Amino acid sequence: MNSYAPHDLYENLLKSIADPFFVIAEDGTYLDAFGGSERKLYDDAVSLKGRNIHDFMEAEFAQFFMEQVCRALSLGSIHCFEYQLQTDSVEGIPKNGPGGKQWFEARLYPLENLYEGKRAVTALILNISERKSLQQRLRELSYQDSLTKVFNRRYFFERLSEQLELYTQDRISLAIMVLDIDQFKDINDTYGHFSGDHILKQVVQVLEQFITPDITLARFGGDEFIFSVERLPFDEVMRSAECVRAAIEREKFVFAEHTIPVTVSIGVSQVTQFDTDTASIVSRADKALYLAKTQGRNRVVRM
Ligand code: GH3
Ligand code: MG
Repeated sequence: MNSYAPHDLYENLLKSIADPFFVIAEDGTYLDAFGGSERKLYDDAVSLKGRNIHDFMEAEFAQFFMEQVCRALSLGSIHCFEYQLQTDSVEGIPKNGPGGKQWFEARLYPLENLYEGKRAVTALILNISERKSLQQRLRELSYQDSLTKVFNRRYFFERLSEQLELYTQDRISLAIMVLDIDQFKDINDTYGHFSGDHILKQVVQVLEQFITPDITLARFGGDEFIFSVERLPFDEVMRSAECVRAAIEREKFVFAEHTIPVTVSIGVSQVTQFDTDTASIVSRADKALYLAKTQGRNRVVRM
C-alpha cells in the first residue's frame, strides 16, 4: 500500500488553500508560490514562482511592495498592510480571476533562516474587496437620511466642524440656513403619513437644485432641513434663502389627486469670529427660524 510522506500532504494542502501564499526574497524574487485556488477572488499566480516582482509588476507598485517586505524583515515580526491593485496589469499570469481593481491585504512574516540562500518573508495575500465595499456602503448609510437620501444630521455636524475650522483659520465665510415646513403636522393629519413622506421627498428635490460645491444640504430631523453655505457674501446668502422659500411656494405638490400647498420658514445665521462651536451657530439659526414661525411663517429671518 502506498503511503504519503508528510511533505506531499502539506504540498497538497497548500494547493487547496483559497488564498495565495508566497515566499518573497528581499531582492523581489518570488521563491515559492502556493494556494490561491479561489478563482472568484484571485488569478492563478502560482506561475510567479521564480520570477522577480520588478518584471511582472509596474515599477511604482513593485517599489511600494518591496519597501513593505524590507519593513517586515527589519521589524522581525508580522507586518500587515492594505493596497488596491489593478489586477489586469500583472504580467504573465493567466487572467482567470475576478479582474479589474481589487483590494488586498498582505500579511508578511519574516523567515528566521535563509530560504534558498536568501533573506525572505512569507506573504499571505487576502482579497478584501467585498469587505472594503461593505465598509464604504456602511459609511455612506451612516451619513444618509433613509427617506430623502440627502445627508443626515450626523454628517452635517462633522462637515460643519471642518467648515468652522476653515473659517477660523482662513476666514472663509460661512452661513447656516435652517428650514422647516409650515404646518406639516396638518398635512400629515389631513392627507396621511404617506403624503407627508411624499412631500418631504419632493421638498428635497426642490432644495437639491440649490446645491453647489460650496453648499451642503442635510435633513436635520422631522420636517427640518439645514444648509451650510460657504464663500458667499451674507446678503447673497439672504437672497438665496429667499429664492429657496419662493421655489417651495411655487412648486406644485400633488398627492392622490390632491394639490397640497406647501410653504417653508427659514432661519439664517452668519458665522462670526465669536462662534467657537457648531452648536451655537445652529442654535442662532434655530432662533431665527422660531421668529419666522411666530411672525407668520413662509418667510426668511436672519439673526
Ligand atoms: P410649524 O409650522 O410650527 O413647523 O408646524 P408643524 O406642524 O410643521 O410643526 P411640528 O414640528 O410640530 O410638526 C412636524 C411634524 O413632522 C410632526 C411629525 O409627525 C412629522 N414628521 C416628522 N418626521 C416625519 C416623516 O418622516 N414623515 C412624515 N410623514 N411626517 C414626519
Ligand atoms: Mg414644521
